[in-house]
Amino acid sequence: MSLHAVRPWREIQRRKSRQIMVGRVPVGGDAPISVQTMTNTDTSDVKATLDQIIRAADVGADIVRVSTPDEDSTRALREITRESPVPIVADIHFHYKRAIEAAEAGAACLRINPGNIGDAKRVAEVVRAAKDHGCSIRIGVNAGSLERHLLEKYAEPCPAAMVESGLDHIKLLQDHDFHEFKISVKASDVFLAAAAYQQLADATDAPIHLGITEAGGLMSGTIKSAIGMGNLLWMGIGDTIRVSLSADPVEEVKVGFEILKSLGLRHRGVNIISCPSCARQGFDVIKTVETLEKRLEHVKTPMSLSIIGCVVNGPGEALMTDVGFTGGGAGNGMVYLAGKQSHRMSNDQMIDHIVEQVEAKAAEIEARDKAAAKAAE
Ligand code: SF4
Repeated sequence: MSLHAVRPWREIQRRKSRQIMVGRVPVGGDAPISVQTMTNTDTSDVKATLDQIIRAADVGADIVRVSTPDEDSTRALREITRESPVPIVADIHFHYKRAIEAAEAGAACLRINPGNIGDAKRVAEVVRAAKDHGCSIRIGVNAGSLERHLLEKYAEPCPAAMVESGLDHIKLLQDHDFHEFKISVKASDVFLAAAAYQQLADATDAPIHLGITEAGGLMSGTIKSAIGMGNLLWMGIGDTIRVSLSADPVEEVKVGFEILKSLGLRHRGVNIISCPSCARQGFDVIKTVETLEKRLEHVKTPMSLSIIGCVVNGPGEALMTDVGFTGGGAGNGMVYLAGKQSHRMSNDQMIDHIVEQVEAKAAEIEARDKAAAKAAE
């Protein structure tokens, strides 16, 4: 029985959207919310770009976007899409020819606003290329680059202007009988983005790509994204997400998963529950959690681990986690397995021991899931 069935106050009703495919990754409908990032290498440097894509995929990225501003980039894209472990979205701004080249080079999706690429003939050519090569399209409205006529109509970037822009781009695709699209209405201002996304969610059934754009550095951008995207996800809005940070794309993916994990929308790897520590701690909680985060990065199985400094909160938290450790006294603490006290362990051996316990639990969960899947066949 899922946690949501037992505790209905955890439940999030996801908005019903159409499903499209980004390569082999479904987006929308009942598909898991996918996590994206974007490379920041020179795309024509195939090795550096692929290295970054592979590092992002290793920490869970489902889809990676690559900027294709010139012909060198779209040329490089051919090898990148061939070698990439995940579908690639080609980011195009104005030049329709780059979009056609990217589709021919194996991009799974084009990020392009059809209203920005010129006359109807050009839009038709891009749509044809997308159809011929099985590409989907992301319409990406950004508060910072709204069309002039909308700025004149609304005086400033506002939710209604952003949604109108998005619907205008959608109409251009629908007029060409193209329906494999998703859409974003990003802003760096959390209030603006959240309001625009809410209005968009009511105005279309297209899958929604969530993002707070230019959110900032690792710390401030994470907080902004967690507030903005977290609220929307909590309302059930969002089918795929990208956290935009002035940081390594790997960090964007990790933050994306943490946001989804904290809302119970997606699980990957070990969810560590730890206390802030205080004078009561029986061991160095902060250092231990830092070390465990690194030592457990390789575990992809969704599971939980509580690391709590003392008995004030330790047993209670351990009740709800797969593996737990609670500081005691006299240089040792209590190990909990599946919420129950199991055995004592000395503080100086606890890290290796917890890693072993987590790996064993992960193997047990994997075996159980495999057996359940087989039984359901
Ligand atoms: S659980 Fe114990 S050690 Fe951790 S913050 Fe609370 S009182 Fe302090």
